[in-house]
Amino acid sequence: MVINTILREQYSLLKMLQQRYWHVYGNNMDFNVRENVDLQPLNTLAVPAMAKWFVELESEKHIGNVLSFLEQKKCELLVLGGGSNIVLPECFPGLVLKNALMGKSVIDETKNDIVIEFSAGENWHDAVMWCVEQDYHGIENLALIPGTVGAAPIQNIGAYGVELASCFEYLEAVNLINGVKIRLNKNQCEFAYRDSIFKNRLKDKMIITTVALRLYKKPMFTLDYPALSEAFTASKLSLTAQNIAQTVMSIRRSKLPDPADIPNAGSFFKNPVIDKADYERLHEQFSDLVAYPVDGQQYKLAAGWLLDKAGWKGKIVNAISMHNKQALVLTNPQKCNGERLLAFAEQVSDSIRVMFDVRLDIEPRLYLSTPSERD
Ligand code: FAD
Ligand code: NAP
Repeated sequence: MVINTILREQYSLLKMLQQRYWHVYGNNMDFNVRENVDLQPLNTLAVPAMAKWFVELESEKHIGNVLSFLEQKKCELLVLGGGSNIVLPECFPGLVLKNALMGKSVIDETKNDIVIEFSAGENWHDAVMWCVEQDYHGIENLALIPGTVGAAPIQNIGAYGVELASCFEYLEAVNLINGVKIRLNKNQCEFAYRDSIFKNRLKDKMIITTVALRLYKKPMFTLDYPALSEAFTASKLSLTAQNIAQTVMSIRRSKLPDPADIPNAGSFFKNPVIDKADYERLHEQFSDLVAYPVDGQQYKLAAGWLLDKAGWKGKIVNAISMHNKQALVLTNPQKCNGERLLAFAEQVSDSIRVMFDVRLDIEPRLYLSTPSERD
């Protein structure tokens, strides 16, 4: 009788704890899933959003717990890095896993180069600046890009004439279905312009845990991006990775809003790539069109130019606007929700279609549908 009462009390205590935390026992006491967690501070657009469940992944040994949780709850997973390239719904009904895998180590070194493994939760800009300080070259043009190292391969991040693929060695990722860890080299990641296998065949199928980069120990710089080469020449700085990174940072600070002050997700639309015939048609109509040849048959249009030309630069509609210094950056100063942002974005892209007969695709990953998808 007494034993039964004690057992009943212990059971209800356990139930109560489980309402707040999802505890996995054994050697995993530090794997805590919290309920109803506020994601507004964890996305750079600052959209109001809640996670039904939320966990911080500090160790790879807990990935098994994550998979068991998903299986038990029959819910979806959202892997969250720095939240700088996503649009969240007001409530994500599954588990949000904040990547907090930290660490870096040298894997291989020769006279000319060095291979460094970064854990996926490391901050990208900190990783760049660490390399720059060690005098390892190759990613200095990618300074000040927000987010984590683990998200960098997802869209093959790029800026000022350099993209991740140029110094990428391999990554490691865990398959969300069977828990098996695999290693993918550069070819296997199928990197393209702001694209990779993780936006296509492997979308939502893997957690990237490690990214390895091969960096140069000898001076090897990319200074052919006009905005960077002009600023660098004007600065009269000596040619070092540190000085290139500083120049990139000062250009970025001069035209891009800091998400801490004005919430944004960087470029909201991708630069459209169009056929030569369409380029010629547009160029005839708009002699100041800004476009770059991709190959003999295709051209990349500067989406910022299209938006500026269509009058969106600095224009505010329903408290949302395209930034007044770079029309490609959608800003959300009033912290409106994702639905409102997407309604605005659709208005913007519709006007570009009407004016130029060009389709603008959204760059950040959407976790809610656009107004036209809902219709
Ligand atoms: P999140 O936004 O957290 O996630 C993005 C996507 O990747 C999500 O679908 C998420 O599920 C997935 N993901 C994240 N981590 C993992 C993982 N470990 N495993 C599996 N999936 C994962 N981008 C550029 O390319 N060039 C730029 O110059 C640039 N400048 C920017 C400037 C500003 C001011 C801002 C706000 C953004 C900018 N971006 C730029 C976009 C963004 O910073 C990058 O895409 C960045 O890599 C996103 O990293 P994150 O950790 O914030 O990813
Ligand atoms: P910018 O220098 O004003 O140039 C506008 C656009 O023209 C860029 O998108 C760029 O394409 C293209 N461009 C310029 N010179 C080029 C050249 N020589 N060859 C090919 N393409 C050229 O751009 P910005 O807005 O200030 O951004 C500077 C860099 O940071 C760009 O590389 C941009 O991609 C990157 N950035 C990206 C994000 C993001 O969220 N994705 C946000 C801010 C800045 P590319 O975009 O292909 O380089």
